[in-house]
Amino acid sequence: MTIKTIIFDLDGTLLSEEAAVQQAFDRTLAFLTVQQPQVNAAEVEQGVRRHAAALFTSYDFYDFAVQIGISALEGLWGAFDDGSLRFPQMASQIEAYRLNVWCAALEDVGLSDRRLAKILSLMFIAHRLEAAVTYEDTYPVLERLVGHYQLLLLTNGAPSLQRLKLKAAPELLQYFEKINISGGFGKGKPAPELFEHTLSLAQADPATTVMVGDQLFTDILGGNTAGIRTIWLNRTAKQGHEEVVPTASVRSLTEVAQWIENEEG
Ligand SMILES: [Mg+2]
Repeated sequence: MTIKTIIFDLDGTLLSEEAAVQQAFDRTLAFLTVQQPQVNAAEVEQGVRRHAAALFTSYDFYDFAVQIGISALEGLWGAFDDGSLRFPQMASQIEAYRLNVWCAALEDVGLSDRRLAKILSLMFIAHRLEAAVTYEDTYPVLERLVGHYQLLLLTNGAPSLQRLKLKAAPELLQYFEKINISGGFGKGKPAPELFEHTLSLAQADPATTVMVGDQLFTDILGGNTAGIRTIWLNRTAKQGHEEVVPTASVRSLTEVAQWIENEEG
């Protein structure tokens, strides 16, 4: 059946969170290398990534963060000043989390310096806020689809955090009729209620809608459960999963556009 509505995921689909985070690490650690030339910056980055993953799970907000779809690395830079749900609790603990992560990473390379850790944690936030890295086919594909289809954005995360990402790439906003952020709804993908909410916001029909995303267990599982067609954007040829089968698998956004246009008629 012809497609009328396309729901896009944001991170890893239209914006590379990975590349934006890498840019923030590179710039922050370039400063550290000037301050402390003896330090191996790559080791500090690995330490921050490792300690973030481990420490994130130890805070009271962890279960909530998982439910909404907020990662340990996002915890290093988001404001979480949403004021709703359990965001106030998260906001009250997040600075301590960041400081502890950077302190632990510096200690691993023999630097016991809370002041430096604080500076690095703030620099990382500032650099990440500036970074918005789209894929080479993000804008060409949106340009190709807009006007022909109703385009929606459905993203997991804190509204404050996802809006900061979009603020760094304001050109993206013009393409979307509706933007639904899981933290504003209270449940993240794959919750079918979130998909139903998105469809009703846009008055879209599941039978003529397709979900496009890079994550099998959020985008594809949720879309499948909600009874809409799903396109798995699998850029790096990851192994699929027998229990979560997308309607189609593609390697690029350009292939997404081709697939959708082939469904015509
Ligand atoms: Mg994604």
